[in-house]
Amino acid sequence: LDRHKLKWNGWGLADKTFELGERADALWKFLADELAMDSLDHVPPRALEAHAPSPSALAESIAAELAAVVGAEHVKRDPYERVFHSAGRSFRDVVALRIGPLPSVTDAVVYPRNTSEVERILAIATEHGIGVVPFGGGSSVVGGVEPRRGRDQSSVLTLDTSRMNDLVSIDDTSQTATLQAGIYGPELERKLGERGYVLGHAPQSFEFSTLGGWVAARGAGQQSNGYGVAAALLAGATVATPSGLLRTGVFPNSSTGPDLKQVIAGSEGAFGVITEATMRIRSAPERRDYRGYLFRSWDAGVEAVRDIVQQGVPIATLRLSDPDETYFFGTFSSLGKTRSGARRVAEQVLSQRGYGRGGVFLLVGIEGAIAKVVGAVARSTTICVGHGAIPIGTGAGKRWYQGRFEMPYLRDPLLDRGVAVDTLETATTWSNLGRLYQGVREALHGALDSMDRKGLVLAHVSHGYATGASLYFTFVYPLDRTDPLAQWIRLKRAASDAISECAGTISHHHGVGTDHMEWLVTEKGELGMRLVRAMKTSVDPRGVMNPGKLVL
Ligand SMILES: Cc1cc2nc3c(=O)[nH]c(=O)nc-3n(C[C@H](O)[C@H](O)[C@H](O)COP(=O)(O)OP(=O)(O)OC[C@H]3O[C@@H](n4cnc5c(N)ncnc54)[C@H](O)[C@@H]3O)c2cc1C
Repeated sequence: LDRHKLKWNGWGLADKTFELGERADALWKFLADELAMDSLDHVPPRALEAHAPSPSALAESIAAELAAVVGAEHVKRDPYERVFHSAGRSFRDVVALRIGPLPSVTDAVVYPRNTSEVERILAIATEHGIGVVPFGGGSSVVGGVEPRRGRDQSSVLTLDTSRMNDLVSIDDTSQTATLQAGIYGPELERKLGERGYVLGHAPQSFEFSTLGGWVAARGAGQQSNGYGVAAALLAGATVATPSGLLRTGVFPNSSTGPDLKQVIAGSEGAFGVITEATMRIRSAPERRDYRGYLFRSWDAGVEAVRDIVQQGVPIATLRLSDPDETYFFGTFSSLGKTRSGARRVAEQVLSQRGYGRGGVFLLVGIEGAIAKVVGAVARSTTICVGHGAIPIGTGAGKRWYQGRFEMPYLRDPLLDRGVAVDTLETATTWSNLGRLYQGVREALHGALDSMDRKGLVLAHVSHGYATGASLYFTFVYPLDRTDPLAQWIRLKRAASDAISECAGTISHHHGVGTDHMEWLVTEKGELGMRLVRAMKTSVDPRGVMNPGKLVL
């Protein structure tokens, strides 16, 4: 993807925005009321020129060595490329890009085409003691692509993988595909689709993230219940490290000690650059069915979701919104619209029967062969109804599926109006889910109260497993324009401490980056961290790879 076609300071395509249309005024009023804000004035974002990156610290002689490997046109040092590659898309990143300042700017961006070019770039970086930040789509939300310089490093390079976008081979018999790691989601599914296959990994960032980034950050797609998380889809990989090439075989299973694929998944560019990955693929689904259910309470919904997963109903997507998220999205989708008489009556009846405010919405998505889909719809409906739900059909499910990549476009205009939106996610066992849910909600509300700010804390359960599930939180609050970072750090810290105290993982699918490093030791223990550090030093003794991420 041409970087100039993308927003350098926000989400997605440069020429696309979230279409609010006639709903705009109603949305601003709704948010102003919910967040007790007097006004939502628009402040234009900082211009690219205002970031004024200092001149690149990369020596001309080293730039020439890199150009000899990839071609001079693939070594970029102009302000657009340097600023574009100096932040991911976390709330902290977007605040830095739109309000400023950027904590650091990369010295150059290099675009290799294949494994051998990556190996040669890493050799140059190692020889000259330069940091290298692997960059796929740059959609990291944990500070994973921030260009930090390691100790004694005079400069840092960003290695953009987006020219490495080939489908290398497909093994039809084994149902695996080997692809270069810089391929973007839509291109990957298009190429597999031509042969009748899907990978099925579709994070909300699907359109602007890459295979390598999915694996490196141990991501989870919206259909992870059916297709598996990125780490589970990984069947083999090639990684260029400063100490040489690491290749795993492709085995259905192996008892040869620790599984190195599971070291590569989650390595976050700190060990090396994943240049190729072999992924499990499957036949394209004959049918997709997305539908909704309303429950009277959060507890009833959670029990239904647990039953669906533990009984092995083959679903693809599960998303159970808590009462506040159900209310928020219900209101959001009807903003600025006149409700018909029939709709008003239906809502009244639902409310009288206990499905109004306090009720929760469950989305169930099922994909696959027609017989499988039909059977799974029947089984999940029976389970939901058994827990007191009302099935509300496929309308809401279809709308969710159609708009599943659109919401991120709303964050930038909200920020410009002084409304902050961030998300965080965790996971725990079913038996601990209630405690973690309450703990994080209370921590976020408590932190907002202590700042004398009214905010919204929305949550949903998704990515269910036999033993537990993920909890995903969205928090919305009035931005403190004078020090947005300090305000965010207080909220993030409160939530992360609560996650640790309530025995959740500090991240189910966003990764560690810079933002979660502090809480990693509580989760893995000192000895566990020593093991991770030892792995890093054995492949990257000079600390070239992604300085300051995952482990110090
Ligand atoms: C709006 C939005 C929605 C999101 N939704 C989801 C979601 O539903 N599920 C989910 O899992 N995540 C989600 N994310 C987070 C993010 O998209 C994922 O972490 C994604 O996997 C990152 O892919 P990327 O190609 O953009 O990687 P980048 O952001 O470029 O990099 C992520 C990390 O991986 C490293 N890296 C990248 N490529 C390589 C490589 N080839 N070799 C070695 N290291 C590499 C980078 O150095 C960095 O540490 C979302 C992010 C945003 C902004």
